[in-house]
Amino acid sequence: MMGDERKRGKPLVLVASPFQGHMTPMLQLGSVLHSKGFSITLAHTKLNSPDPSNHPEFVFLTLSDNFSAIDASANYTKFLEALNNNCKMQLQDHLTRKIEEGKDEMNHTITVIHDNIMYFAEEVASNLNLRSIVLRSCSASYMPAFLALPRLHAEGKLPVQDSMLQELVPELHPLRYKDLPFNDTPTEVATEMLALAERVRTPSAIIWNTMEFLEHSALTQLRQHYQVPIFAIGPLIKMARCPSTSFLEEDTGCISWLDKQAPRSVIYVSLGSLATMDETELTETAWGLAKSKQPFLWVVRPGSVSGSEWIEFLPEGFTEEVRGRGLVLKWAPQKQVLSHSAVGGFWSHCGWNSTLESISEGVPMICQPVMGDQCVNSRYLSYVWRVGLELENLEIKVVESAIRRLLVDEEGQEMRQRAISMKEKAKYSLFKGGSSFNSLKDLVEFTLAR
Ligand code: UDP
Repeated sequence: MMGDERKRGKPLVLVASPFQGHMTPMLQLGSVLHSKGFSITLAHTKLNSPDPSNHPEFVFLTLSDNFSAIDASANYTKFLEALNNNCKMQLQDHLTRKIEEGKDEMNHTITVIHDNIMYFAEEVASNLNLRSIVLRSCSASYMPAFLALPRLHAEGKLPVQDSMLQELVPELHPLRYKDLPFNDTPTEVATEMLALAERVRTPSAIIWNTMEFLEHSALTQLRQHYQVPIFAIGPLIKMARCPSTSFLEEDTGCISWLDKQAPRSVIYVSLGSLATMDETELTETAWGLAKSKQPFLWVVRPGSVSGSEWIEFLPEGFTEEVRGRGLVLKWAPQKQVLSHSAVGGFWSHCGWNSTLESISEGVPMICQPVMGDQCVNSRYLSYVWRVGLELENLEIKVVESAIRRLLVDEEGQEMRQRAISMKEKAKYSLFKGGSSFNSLKDLVEFTLAR
């Protein structure tokens, strides 16, 4: 606690989105701000709601979104529009009631902190003359690429031609066309999507789950672009004392299996909460893991392999080949896994949470980005920060070689050294006087100043 009476119980309403990669940093942020004396209401959709028993310190407000699942194949823009429309009135009613109750004069100074895709929250806050702040759960380095999309479409450079994929994009060094988000999206669809992103118009500030040392250049550009304070307070995973934030049940049994493995020998494989694969990709991954001869912990989310419930399509002979050397599970306690001394590498889709979690534990990565900011993150991990290997394609030989390069070869050891030094820097940024520590202090002051 910072011991400042002004902030005791000052109300914050956090509006979370139903995506795992967005919910996690929002819950972490809530925990951090609660520890600074704020009172936290966590507004969340019914779909993918967090477990209140993990956060007895929060008040939860359920918004009926009228969705029963996130359909990855559906039109994302339409999904977001409907989600925002369905939740808007309930939040507005709740906040109006709070203000009118007037029992607590502090209710007039509620600050709304919302996930960037829950843009309705900003509209509600603005209607009620409340202040709103956005939480961004992607990398900062992704945004300059995202903001350049209209220009690249107008110049006819997007959607990208195959022949251009390896070319560097002018003004976006070090990104290649293949690293750009939505690079094959037709212009009409991209225009709709970009218009939606513009719906977040007037936040008073932006909170970014990142560190100055890691993304200073992107943060500088974004400060110029948005002209509002940007508080870089990551890595939230290390700042917050937060229990599990998973929607799926974590299979904690894998930790005792890890206890039996040699130090830095295991490759941990997970493509996050949304990515899917087909049967061929599953097969190439499986045999690549088998042929690498390294122990592995492989998360295959139920439903993530098209046309199957779980791992029915695992190739014949695979289980016998890897018996005793590998575990396949539905969902891992990733934070614990990455901090385990047996884990030597993380084969990841490079979602921003996974990236920060790996960096925070000094674990080097194999990068297999799938969509959105992951391609930008992968480029930074492999080319700029040099703590990851880019997986050129998903073929058995390429996979086998990447795993061995990371876990056995000197190249991997050098990456591990760099990853460990990034872990140290991340840790120092949270210490008193460090950049994230100072940014959090500034955020607290900023929030109290109204
Ligand atoms: N995660 C987990 N267990 C798993 C796989 C993922 O707890 O088996 C967590 C991971 O720690 C991370 C989040 O799920 O916090 C995934 O977020 P990320 O931004 O990396 O990717 P997304 O799921 O949004 O694509």
